[in-house]
Amino acid sequence: MLCPKCKTDQASRSHRRGPLEHAIAFFGFYPYRCRNCKARFVSLRPDTAAPASANRPGVEREIKATRSAMAVKRKRRELLLYATAVVLFLAFLYYVTRERTASFEGSLTPPPAFRSTDPAC
Ligand SMILES: [Zn+2]
Repeated sequence: MLCPKCKTDQASRSHRRGPLEHAIAFFGFYPYRCRNCKARFVSLRPDTAAPASANRPGVEREIKATRSAMAVKRKRRELLLYATAVVLFLAFLYYVTRERTASFEGSLTPPPAFRSTDPAC
């Protein structure tokens, strides 16, 4: 990797630091450090991994299959979590509305008592 500061080929991959470098790694950008001038910079990862995986399409396919399977599993888990949350929310809503109607009915009990005194009037 060529260093942009001293233009020597002494730069090598550095450890990712912070959430930003992890985020840009998603787009193929990785931090590098020059062993000559100790300069740190972020650059697009050279696609040295591409020809290697092209030589082994079976491995690539297997990795892709595993990744998609993991994604499906994760999505299913998220869906289950979402469904559970919805059910819990509905249960809560049912509980709240049932309690409210019960207290509403409770507030309606005085009228029958009033009505019982009405015929006596
Ligand atoms: Zn350098």
